[in-house]
Amino acid sequence: MSTCILWFRNNLRLGDNAPVLQAYNTFETVIPVYFLPAANQIDSWGNPTIGAWREQFLHDAAMDLREKLRDCGSDLLLLEGDPVTTLKELAATFETNAIYAPKELAAYEVHEQLQLNLWGKSEGIEVKFFLERTLYQPDDFPFSLENMPQVFSPFRRKLEKYAAPRKAWEEPSISPVDVSSFAQLQGLWEVRTPAPDERTAFPYRGGVREAWRALEDYFWEGEQAIQVYKETRNGMLGRSFSSKFSPFLAIGCISAAQVMDELDQFEERHTSNDSTYWLFIELLWREFFQWTAYNAGKLLFLPTGLQPEKPWKQHFNKRKYEQWKNGETGDPLVDANMKELLATGFMSNRGRQNVASYLIHDLGLDWRSGAAWFESQLIDFDPASNYGNWLYIAGRGNDPRPFRKFNTKMQLERYDPDNSYVNTWLN
Ligand SMILES: Cc1cc2nc3c(=O)[nH]c(=O)nc-3n(C[C@H](O)[C@H](O)[C@H](O)COP(=O)(O)OP(=O)(O)OC[C@H]3O[C@@H](n4cnc5c(N)ncnc54)[C@H](O)[C@@H]3O)c2cc1C
Repeated sequence: MSTCILWFRNNLRLGDNAPVLQAYNTFETVIPVYFLPAANQIDSWGNPTIGAWREQFLHDAAMDLREKLRDCGSDLLLLEGDPVTTLKELAATFETNAIYAPKELAAYEVHEQLQLNLWGKSEGIEVKFFLERTLYQPDDFPFSLENMPQVFSPFRRKLEKYAAPRKAWEEPSISPVDVSSFAQLQGLWEVRTPAPDERTAFPYRGGVREAWRALEDYFWEGEQAIQVYKETRNGMLGRSFSSKFSPFLAIGCISAAQVMDELDQFEERHTSNDSTYWLFIELLWREFFQWTAYNAGKLLFLPTGLQPEKPWKQHFNKRKYEQWKNGETGDPLVDANMKELLATGFMSNRGRQNVASYLIHDLGLDWRSGAAWFESQLIDFDPASNYGNWLYIAGRGNDPRPFRKFNTKMQLERYDPDNSYVNTWLN
């Protein structure tokens, strides 16, 4: 009997999921597994590597997937430890023919893939990673990956002109599996439950069902907020100023191709305007950062970023850092946004740009300390988008502009003229 371990990573869904589709179409027995995030770890800036909001979101998404699999007579094994070591042991113990998993694009995950691939070759076990995360496969690009445009505008223009985003793949039928012999391997996931805050701009929990609820709300309900996205996208308050798809995209409760399919349907059945097109452009930003991260490898995480030749001077001040994290800098726009992040695990794009610029250009702190706090707290944390955007603001990305400094006083006047956002979070 042929057996495959199906390793779920940041692809916590069944639809439009290449490794899931291939595993169920190829093997008689498929064993779905997921690794718990390492508990109680502290990063080099003194932050928990995964904060309570992020962990809860991940937990809810994994439980949602497990429930769906159980409805089909399958299951999701929750494993502990280092995935590469544990998967090798599992595959050997249970005489597995293959390990299938999604292909990730950030350096650490790519290294995991390399290790498992090498091991698979030496052991005669088929190890395969399938790309499902992006809208385009490298073969779809009108340029080679090594010669990908370094800045966003030409990248976008080339894709708009010469390529089309892929369509979502179908969901396979899930075959049942008896996992009782694995039961002793299962880890216990004890999550902290942060208190909900009714001011949140993100009124959802993790999981596929919640992702589709968010899609439904944004495209089809009431005012159909998507129709005015271009005008509202710089907002900071409330559910509807932007799509709120990023947390679901980050861990794969929904894919970019599924969002595009829904967008196409909306344009067909209702209207197609600048706003609907702009959501596509934002997904291209995501695409740009995914492939930039892949090309950059470890450079993405180094202090000098994508410009190693540019001089670098380390500067860090613990007291200023803590004030920034806790929303106690004295700058109302920055403080309101940082308090929102602490209280909900989410922050608007406008907010992120301002607080990042403030940390780097006003406080003069190491950009990596800010990126690490976002990594710990943001429920939509994604290595490519997070580190890519931080580098961009620090002037250490691919962009020829030296750096992007935001004047937080002027930004406050422009984007929160009646102080409703600031008052929501500071009073
Ligand atoms: C310093 C900084 C750090 C960031 N860290 C992350 C992160 O860890 N994870 C993350 O998903 N986004 C990150 N972003 C990008 C952006 O802020 C969020 O994607 C967006 O605010 C999420 O809200 P939304 O889904 O409502 O976005 P919408 O405005 O509705 O956009 C739709 C989708 O387009 C994509 N998108 C939009 N803007 C960007 C962008 N600038 N970069 C990459 N993708 C984009 C996202 O997938 C988003 O869900 C960061 C931005 C900054 C300035």
